Amino acid sequence: MKIPFVTFKPLEKELDNELRNAFERVYKRSWYIEGIEDENFEKIFAEYCNSKYCVGVGNGLDALYLALRALGIKEGDEVLVPSNTYIATALAVTYAGATPVFVEPDIKTFNVNPERIENAITDKTRAIMPVHLYGQACDMDQIMDIAKRHNLYVIEDCAQAHGATYKGKVVGSFGDAAGFSFYPGKNLGALGDAGAAVTNNEEVARKIRALGNYGSDYKYHHIMQGNNSRLDELQAAFLAAKLPHLGRINKERRKIADKYLNGIHNDAVILPYVPEYAEPVWHIFGIRCKRRDELEKYLNDAGIGTNKHYPIPMHLQECYKNLGFKRGDFPISEEISATELSIPMYYGMTDEEIQYVIDKVNDFR
Ligand SMILES: *Cc1c(COP(=O)(O)O)cnc(C)c1O
Repeated sequence: MKIPFVTFKPLEKELDNELRNAFERVYKRSWYIEGIEDENFEKIFAEYCNSKYCVGVGNGLDALYLALRALGIKEGDEVLVPSNTYIATALAVTYAGATPVFVEPDIKTFNVNPERIENAITDKTRAIMPVHLYGQACDMDQIMDIAKRHNLYVIEDCAQAHGATYKGKVVGSFGDAAGFSFYPGKNLGALGDAGAAVTNNEEVARKIRALGNYGSDYKYHHIMQGNNSRLDELQAAFLAAKLPHLGRINKERRKIADKYLNGIHNDAVILPYVPEYAEPVWHIFGIRCKRRDELEKYLNDAGIGTNKHYPIPMHLQECYKNLGFKRGDFPISEEISATELSIPMYYGMTDEEIQYVIDKVNDFR
C-alpha cells in the first residue's frame, strides 16, 4: 500500500463541479481583484468565525502581519510567540518592526504554556500571539486573563485551526484579531495562496484592509505605507465553494484521529493529548517517539508518507541568529522538534489506509 502524507484528490473529486462553476463565474465576469466574490467570502467566513469583520488578504503571514500593524505594533515593541510554531508567526512580528520573544510550549499539548507567558512579560511587551498548533486550541481563558491584567493585545494565529473550538467557542473569536491561512494544505485550503484576518473591532478591520491595499482607504489616497495583499476573486470563489463543507471535512479528520488514538498501542510512541477544553480539527496528527528518525524511515519504507512539524525551533533558525540564542535555551521546543512525527491525515482517507498506518506504527520495534 502507498499512503501519501496528504492528498487533495478525494475532496477535489467530490467538489469538482462546484470548483469549476466558481472558476466559470469569475471568468465570465472578468473581474479579478476586490469584487463581489471577496465580499461574499468575507461575509460567510466572518460568520463561521463568530466575528463581526473579515478581511481577505494574500496569505496567512500577511493576515498576521497586517493585524499587528493595524493594532499599532511597531519598532521597540515585544510580542510573545511560541518557540515551536511555523516561522510565519515570528516573521509577522519581525516585519512589523517589533521583536519576537519566544515562549516555551507545554510538552503534552504542544501549545504555548500560559505560565511561561507571564514570566516573559517585560515593560516592552505589547501583544501575545497564541498559535492553535496542529488545530488544537490554546488555553484561551488563561491567556486572555494574562492579557487583560497586563494590558496586552492578543492576536490568534489560526492558520491551522479553522473551526477548532475552546470550551465550545470557535478560535479566532477570543483575541483582538486573528489570522487565517488558506494555503492549499490547511483545513480550508484555496487553490493557491490566500489568507484572512478576522476581528470584532471595526477600526482594526478598516486598517487591515487599507494596509493590504497600499495603505489606501480611498483610491489614490495613501494614508499609510501599506502592502499589496488582497484576496483575489478566483481564490475567494473557490473558498466560498469549499467553506460549506468545512464542518464535514473537520468531522472526518476527527474520525481519523479517533481511530489513531484508539488503535495505536506502542510503548515507543506518545500519542497527542487533548485537554478537556479543546475540540481539535486535527490539521496535523503529531506523535512523539525517542527514535523518531528510525520510525520515520520504517514508515516511509512501508509506503507511508510522514512529515516533521517542525524540525528546527524558532530560536535555532538561521534567520534569527541575530537574537543570539543557542541550543539548550528552549529545551521543550528542542525536545519536540527532535521527537515529533506527523502521520497521514486528510479528507478521504479510507478505513483500510487508516488501519494500515495503525498496524505499521504498532509493528515498529
Ligand atoms: C501556514 C501557517 C502560517 C502562514 O500561512 P501562509 O498562508 O503560508 O502565509 C502561519 N502560521 C502557522 C502556524 C501556519 O501553519
